[in-house]
Amino acid sequence: MLRNMLTIFILPACVLSCGCAINPVTGEKQLMLVGEDWELQVGRQYSGEVEKQLGGRIENRQLQNYINSVGQKIAAVSHRPGLEFHYTALNHESINAMALPGGYVFITRGMLERLTNEAQLAGVLAHETVHVTARHSAAAVSQQMGIDLALSVAGQKASGGAMDIARVGAGLIGLRYSREQETQADIYGLDYMVRAGYNPYAMVETIEMLQQQNEVRPIEFFSSHPDPANRKVNILEHISSNVYPPNLTTGESDYAEFVLANLND
Ligand SMILES: [Zn+2]
Repeated sequence: MLRNMLTIFILPACVLSCGCAINPVTGEKQLMLVGEDWELQVGRQYSGEVEKQLGGRIENRQLQNYINSVGQKIAAVSHRPGLEFHYTALNHESINAMALPGGYVFITRGMLERLTNEAQLAGVLAHETVHVTARHSAAAVSQQMGIDLALSVAGQKASGGAMDIARVGAGLIGLRYSREQETQADIYGLDYMVRAGYNPYAMVETIEMLQQQNEVRPIEFFSSHPDPANRKVNILEHISSNVYPPNLTTGESDYAEFVLANLND
């Protein structure tokens, strides 16, 4: 009994001391039991499943190229510019966006229909890009693996299935990020927008649009976020505490031509 209790307390400490990594976005130390190869493998493995669950890709090359080109501008100024990012529009009516580890970012038709300019699109993609660059899924999975590992050793089940990557990967599709991670995605997302040349106020417009929606909160972009009103206050505070270069773009005409016109086809 004593031995089991010791294992419970000692093992997490060991995991914490040997399994830490520096978060590439915040620079803080965090528990990390999986590497970039795991992120890439999970992203590749589950991107098709996400596409299927959310109505498949929108079959319009011009629209997809445009979404991806805006996403690539964000990726290029992110904390992990060497990672290969994929930005894809899905044919689903919900107002949503989500990301898988390894660089797979999705946005739905329902969201695209309600945005009005390129900077708003860039803001949504930037928010999701931070979930990838800050390794939010990998951190959540590592935390769960640490707990599983401690429990399975304490219960004398040496392997215990704690490292079952497929099972962990499947759970990612419905993953909810913590509030702290959502706030990071908003704030660092604003920085990515500005570095890519977009007006950060577009993020405020998107939050206001989301506030006006009555539908049930969708899978990611809204799920465990702070209350939208608080979210807007945080974003406005961050914007007003920074000095931004002039001539940041909004891109209304391009958005109308490459997204809205194609969605109405
Ligand atoms: Zn989010």
